[in-house]
Amino acid sequence: MTTHSPSAVTIHQPIRLLGRKLTADVFPDRVYFAFGSGRLTYDCVSCGAKCCHGHGYLLNQDVELERQLARSPSVALFFERGKEGEGANQYLVKNCPSGCFFLTSSGMCGVQIDHGYDAKPETCRLFPFNNLRWLDGYLIVRPHPNLCPLEIVGGKEVNKRSEHHELLEAMCLKPIQNGIDQCETSYESPGAAIAAERRIVALSEEFLAKGDYLSFTVAQTAAVGQSTVKGMGEKTGEDVHRYAADVCRLLRIPGTVFDNDHVSRTMIAMTPYLRSQLVFSDCGAAASGARIEISVERVPLALLSLYLIVSTAASIGPTAPHFQTVTRLYDDFLPLLILFAHLHDSMVWHAEAPVPFPAWDSPDLQRRYMRIIRALQPGPARKRPARLYDILHEHAMPEDADGLIFLKELARGLFGHLKVHGNHNKWTERVDVRVRIQSAIHRWALGHIDEGVLGSLYARTRNHRGNSAKARDAGASVGGGS
Ligand code: SF4
Repeated sequence: MTTHSPSAVTIHQPIRLLGRKLTADVFPDRVYFAFGSGRLTYDCVSCGAKCCHGHGYLLNQDVELERQLARSPSVALFFERGKEGEGANQYLVKNCPSGCFFLTSSGMCGVQIDHGYDAKPETCRLFPFNNLRWLDGYLIVRPHPNLCPLEIVGGKEVNKRSEHHELLEAMCLKPIQNGIDQCETSYESPGAAIAAERRIVALSEEFLAKGDYLSFTVAQTAAVGQSTVKGMGEKTGEDVHRYAADVCRLLRIPGTVFDNDHVSRTMIAMTPYLRSQLVFSDCGAAASGARIEISVERVPLALLSLYLIVSTAASIGPTAPHFQTVTRLYDDFLPLLILFAHLHDSMVWHAEAPVPFPAWDSPDLQRRYMRIIRALQPGPARKRPARLYDILHEHAMPEDADGLIFLKELARGLFGHLKVHGNHNKWTERVDVRVRIQSAIHRWALGHIDEGVLGSLYARTRNHRGNSAKARDAGASVGGGS
């Protein structure tokens, strides 16, 4: 994973996918790169080859295996069989601290030094652009989310390491045997999804020079509108500015954070990648409850919220945000981003989804939570529902650090439980009967019991739980001491 210089091949040939679950030949026009060509770079020497200090890699049982055994026959002692879903003819090579067996003291890959780039294991050869997904005939190529400290390349310069042509050559070189997960999209078809996302990549190229994320958001909504219902979700500059102002108000972000040109360019270059996380969800994610529910038209707003959060971090911290700063903040704030994507929509609770009743330490926060949950319940009272922003503004405006933490925790609690009012999409998670009954009781209580009485019931439940836990701990310590 240390250096990248594939030998030349023509790319009129297809990429061969030979995974256990997926076998296909993919021609370059069916490959979608979720980043601009040449817009990302990395420097293995200054990074210290962090990727080679990971847990290990998959080794194909072909020339890759031969080269490693030729260099160190005993390395086979550290092989394990690949897991289900990985390639049929692969071993898992388990590293032990401090890193890969073949990493030299100069930070170079010993396999590459001895046998050339082509002999490197597939994982290393494609890294960091080995985060692949399959969308019904299309191969989606994305960078690894967090292992490589990627930098954005702006301006007229591009970097060879992430040029699409170079990466296609590397992928054509040998069949790809690592498992590739299938994904699905909420666009009307895979072809429409790829066409729309390619338009976003082209737009990000155009806006990189301007460095204005708010205008880029407006342009994104127009580009996506061409692929969904014409004009749907399209936002004017005024809409976007109003939205940004509302997010800033709720998160107590000062308006001055908009001025960071570096953050704007980083976010513009990363937007195709970030979008790919939101518009392509792994198959099976819905059944496991991990599916992110966000309509394609609202994705630009989720990313505008992220831009404001990254800008805030940059306004406090001493370092310029880079790829990993953004991916880390994306992971940390995802539920809030999804919630805020629908800030100007009227949202309701999924009728079938359970209603969690966490006990907050502060009675004030408990009361706020109840009021929000009550305001989001479907039913006759929601015939003329309020916008989500209005509900949050009324009940969740943070006045201090606790209020901001509350807002983030609230977003985690609401994650996956809300839908746009009037949408008929079904709740897809399976919950057991006990949770359903408990949830029905909670709903009834919300609709019929006064909030003061409910609040004291919570407090009593919490105290009861706390006392039971203390009694258990005390019992355990007495038992342990005797
Ligand atoms: S085989 Fe080479 S590139 Fe791969 S982890 Fe080991 S040293 Fe790094």
